[in-house]
Amino acid sequence: MHHFHYKGQDLYCEQVPISEVAQEVGTPFYLYSHATLKQHYTAFDSAFKDIRHLTCFSVKSNSNLAILRLFASQGSGMDIVSGGELYRALKAGVEPEKIVYSGVGKRSEDLEYALESGILMFNVESTQEIQRLNEVAGSLGKKARIAIRVNPDVDPGTHPYIATGMRENKFGIDISEALEHYMAAAGMKNLLVSGVSCHIGSQLTELSPFVDALRRVKELIRKLNGAGIRIDYLDLGGGLGITYRDEAPPHPKEYANAIKPELTGSQLTLILEPGRVIVGNAGILVTTVLYTKTTSQKTFIIVDAAMNDLMRPSLYNSYHEIQPVKIAGNAKVMADIVGPICESGDFFAKGRQIQASGQGDLLAIMSAGAYGFSMSSTYNSRPRVCEVMAIGDKFYTIRARETYEDLVRGENIPDFLRKIS
Ligand SMILES: *Cc1c(COP(=O)(O)O)cnc(C)c1O
Repeated sequence: MHHFHYKGQDLYCEQVPISEVAQEVGTPFYLYSHATLKQHYTAFDSAFKDIRHLTCFSVKSNSNLAILRLFASQGSGMDIVSGGELYRALKAGVEPEKIVYSGVGKRSEDLEYALESGILMFNVESTQEIQRLNEVAGSLGKKARIAIRVNPDVDPGTHPYIATGMRENKFGIDISEALEHYMAAAGMKNLLVSGVSCHIGSQLTELSPFVDALRRVKELIRKLNGAGIRIDYLDLGGGLGITYRDEAPPHPKEYANAIKPELTGSQLTLILEPGRVIVGNAGILVTTVLYTKTTSQKTFIIVDAAMNDLMRPSLYNSYHEIQPVKIAGNAKVMADIVGPICESGDFFAKGRQIQASGQGDLLAIMSAGAYGFSMSSTYNSRPRVCEVMAIGDKFYTIRARETYEDLVRGENIPDFLRKIS
């Protein structure tokens, strides 16, 4: 369920006509529905309400402060993967004791920052990281709570770039070798070993890989308990998929119902790190048609948004619905919808049946709330677009469009280049 729908000919977000937002802020822009964000968070979190759990929203999927703030106000924790994401989470008002820190390449200064902030737990991914964390914690006179991120070797059945829990991936420690790493970590003075974590991939549309991974992790926890290592947290990561086109992913309730029976009688706190399933269908990217052209091969609809604004089609060849902001009843055409960037990979759709559009028409690229703005760049020196949140019949800019000055901030021409000889 989301709150993007037509009233008559016009596409609305909640009670806001999208054309009105375009008029006010210009295009392109991201537009999020407050009601959808809140509803998706609540549906997910409440599916686990009868067991001990902590939902930690995955900041990398959408890191806008206003959106983090909204989830924090609903009691959400956060899953972070960098010092910058920690800064955002804290700035948004997230309680540090609800923050878990994942990622294969944490720098010493980021570890320090997180220790000083008092986060809940570090999901550590290598022997060297475990040693580094022990040293950094020691130098600060602190103890770091850790979970080892294990690689359960499960095929999530998703795009190879977002599969993370197979043996060939860079993530985690091979589950079959985890026990020795736990034993080593348990002997380190400045570490408090108390969790097991895994995250097997993203955009999963089946439950069985989650259940397989969970069973393997439970088996490990039994072994750890047997070896005298007490585990309090089981972090199952994120990864639940959404409908972009015709996928039929499980509802969070079905996801919870598959997981909960596996945990009956346990004293573990379950940690969940959903990203896409909460924000994916709560946001769209709105763009204007600049030109159309028909070559001997194809029709192109050239829009003012580009791969730097929404990278998923170029990066993963992923599908996004594209809808007219105004239905005109025109005939349909088969077209490639492309951006202005000087790369043939700069497309949003290829060979798409779409309402014939002309210059100035607005198009909505749907399901762009996750890994949309957060993956954007300024490639081709295109200022990052603005982000807007609609609530009821009102809307607010939650990130200003960048200016040309923003583009060159921090750049410097050294003196030796200033002298024109
Ligand atoms: C990316 C990521 C997530 C979120 O994944 P989604 O598919 O967006 O739910 C959760 N945990 C970790 C460790 C991640 O890297």
